[in-house]
Amino acid sequence: MRPGDPRLAPEDRLVDLHAHTCFSDGLFTPEQLVERARWLGLAAVGVTDHDTTAGLERALAAGRRHGVEIAPGVEMSCTADGVDVHILGYYLDFEDAELLAFFRRLFEAREQRARSMVEKMQALGLAVDWQGVARAAGGAAVGRPHVAQAMLEAKVVGSIEEAFQRWIGFDAPAYVPKYRLSPEEAVEFIRRHRGVAIVAHPGIYRREGALFATIAAGIDGLEAWHPDHSPGDTDRMLELARKNRLLVTGGGDCHGGRKKGQIYLGEVAVSYNYLAALKRLSRRRRAAGSGPNEG
Ligand code: AMP
Ligand code: FE
Ligand code: FE
Ligand code: ZN
Repeated sequence: MRPGDPRLAPEDRLVDLHAHTCFSDGLFTPEQLVERARWLGLAAVGVTDHDTTAGLERALAAGRRHGVEIAPGVEMSCTADGVDVHILGYYLDFEDAELLAFFRRLFEAREQRARSMVEKMQALGLAVDWQGVARAAGGAAVGRPHVAQAMLEAKVVGSIEEAFQRWIGFDAPAYVPKYRLSPEEAVEFIRRHRGVAIVAHPGIYRREGALFATIAAGIDGLEAWHPDHSPGDTDRMLELARKNRLLVTGGGDCHGGRKKGQIYLGEVAVSYNYLAALKRLSRRRRAAGSGPNEG
């Protein structure tokens, strides 16, 4: 299905506000993602790589060429109540020097962490090497999906799923945690850089405290629609958002086919109105100034 006929005005079409590129663990280049979005007739795509903003420039340029609006973002890795929580930051000042230095440090920390996982696996007798992981990452911010791919290519596992289940999943023997922010730190960082903070896939966190901690931290909105959400999860998020006066968003979390049972770009899409509301908040915040307590 094409979510939108390109002849319709953008406001009358759909947007997918959560997608990854090859700059993190997606398989599409920014250009391929944008071309796909155009084919689908999406009015806008949120480009939200894990802990990196390196793909945004190319995505924005491709978006201009193809007439697809890009909602520039980043998906930040956090921890709350003992579980991983992802916070999406949209419309930050992505050219700010301090912001760029921060993401460069995260990039390096991810590389160190992947090297530690390789060392753990070698100590466990697995024939995996760093070169294989580096090749799988191809210059991207390295994550466990790249480690899993290197393991698959080295034939130490039969599938990506097996790599996660037996070796690199949370609590598996070669797992190494990565540097993660608290929700307060992530929200403060996003606000300080004049962005809008949305909690990603809020329905999947196994501990209730995790979501409440992000709301208490001052999150601006909830990603109510996500492929991992049941209809009940979405209902619950819409209700929570209404009670807490938060924005709601939605997106397909496209990884371009890397993940099993992958949902493709635009399979979860929402009305342009939701992006318009997000942009209104972003503009209000910019007009009010850049301090963390303003807007
Ligand atoms: P990282 O940020 O390096 O810890 O990697 C987390 C990423 O790994 C997630 O964003 C998913 O894209 C992917 N992932 C997590 N669990 C699995 C799994 N069981 N199978 C495939 N991919 C997974
Ligand atoms: Fe991912
Ligand atoms: Fe995520
Ligand atoms: Zn994501």
